[in-house]
Amino acid sequence: MRLRNIPGAREAMLESEFVIQNPKSHRNQWKEVFGNDNPIHLEIGMGKGRFITTLALENPDINYIGIEKYSSVLLRALEKREQIEVSNLFFIRMDAEELTEVFGYHEVARIYLNFSDPWPKERHAKRRLTSKEYFARYDQILKSEGTVEFKTDNRDLFLFSLESVEESGWNLVLSTADLHHSIYCADNVMTEYEERFSSQGNPIYKMVADRQPAASVNTGESVI
Ligand code: SAM
Repeated sequence: MRLRNIPGAREAMLESEFVIQNPKSHRNQWKEVFGNDNPIHLEIGMGKGRFITTLALENPDINYIGIEKYSSVLLRALEKREQIEVSNLFFIRMDAEELTEVFGYHEVARIYLNFSDPWPKERHAKRRLTSKEYFARYDQILKSEGTVEFKTDNRDLFLFSLESVEESGWNLVLSTADLHHSIYCADNVMTEYEERFSSQGNPIYKMVADRQPAASVNTGESVI
């Protein structure tokens, strides 16, 4: 994601009714923000927001929260948000490191990670959104039956993520090294990055992980 400092981006965040200004104050009370008890799905690192905006339109009975670290990027998602009329989509500008301060124990039903930054240097591995450290955070906020869904074009990050799932004691529910040519593509919603990388001919990797003891079926294909 190219990061330019867009003048006024921070002010636009502060003024928007769609951006939650003090997210930590809603911990354990997100149902009050939405005015209902529907399941909450997060996208962490939503970028320009096409994925979560599309899902919010398609699934009015799910509550969506898009998380993005940078105002200049979130501003692009906000522009999309302002063009649709839904009551099930809010954004938070925050670093995902603070997830457990914003969401209570098992308050979230699903987490989407799309084309997360790879942080290729080993010393930065903990910053990858699929590191063991992040799975420990997801373990706190995600319901017992909840899932983490991850897509990427980056093979090394995908392999690292599969290892994290195993080391964290989670189950691999689904794994494919070529999502767009797999049976899992039917209901796929593309992100901005996904469209760009797949149009260049790059395969898209996807995995879904949960921590259900017996119900999970590993339908994974080998990526080695
Ligand atoms: N998900 C979008 C897509 O697929 O088009 C954007 C992908 S972009 C490569 C990754 C995004 O994640 C960037 O917008 C970045 O600012 C955001 N991001 C990275 N680390 C983050 C963190 N710790 N907390 C919140 N957002 C983060």
